[in-house]
Amino acid sequence: MIERTVRLRAQGLTKRFGGLAAVSEVSLDLWHGQLHAVIGPNGAGKSTLTNLLSGDLPPSSGTVHVEGLDVTGWSPERISRHGLGRSYQKTNIFPTFTVWDNVRLAAQSREQPSPFNPIGWWGQAGGMGTVNARAERALEMAGLQDRRQALAGAASHGEQRQLEIAMTLATEPVVLLLDEPLAGMGAMEADRMIGLLLKLKKDHAMMLVEHDMDAVFALADHLTVMVNGQVIASDKPAAVRADSNVQAAYLGEDH
Ligand code: ADP
Ligand code: MG
Repeated sequence: MIERTVRLRAQGLTKRFGGLAAVSEVSLDLWHGQLHAVIGPNGAGKSTLTNLLSGDLPPSSGTVHVEGLDVTGWSPERISRHGLGRSYQKTNIFPTFTVWDNVRLAAQSREQPSPFNPIGWWGQAGGMGTVNARAERALEMAGLQDRRQALAGAASHGEQRQLEIAMTLATEPVVLLLDEPLAGMGAMEADRMIGLLLKLKKDHAMMLVEHDMDAVFALADHLTVMVNGQVIASDKPAAVRADSNVQAAYLGEDH
């Protein structure tokens, strides 16, 4: 039997912005080797949920555990060092740096700076060798070896999204949160990204926020539907697809 492990557990997560509950009592588990897709119309609270899991936003109530440890209220940097990697809905790269330098900087950010070691990697065991090896592995996993010398800003849209994933992988996460990695892609770029996500699924616990339903049904082991900050369904993809409430609230419409 294959052992399945919960890498991330969210319990009762709620986020209020003034009077609006952008995320309301959301609980979910992310398992090693599985992809958990989160879908829902614009404004449903998907990005806010991602921000609560990554520490980019503190929850109004509820908890997040990563690898069994309560990380609620931790800074995003500390949560990242504890094994959570994320990409953002908006592209988040340094356009005037090469692809390689972007990935290497991300690999470097994993090292913890200290007052005696302000630039982090310099005094660490392995130092630059470790950082470069980590960057090299991430570049290769994301399929960008041949593009290392290209300026990030000159890469195609699809390559820029691959680069963001490479930058996330460079921190060697156990949990990967991806917010609409297929947004704005053509069919060929989307296919390539789906192939990459399938590959990454084997070694990570993943959460994917995505509008592309073909991609969601090709990739997801578990599917959560959010509407107005609330989970209206959470089950195996086939069961969610057959759910008439979901049909009415979301899947039947063209978003
Ligand atoms: P989704 O990613 O599903 O499209 P979001 O999580 O971005 O939805 O937004 C959910 C709701 O929370 C929306 O009504 C949005 O306007 C609101 N919201 C998101 N971020 C903030 C914020 N920083 N301040 C106030 N309201 C916000
Ligand atoms: Mg969003």
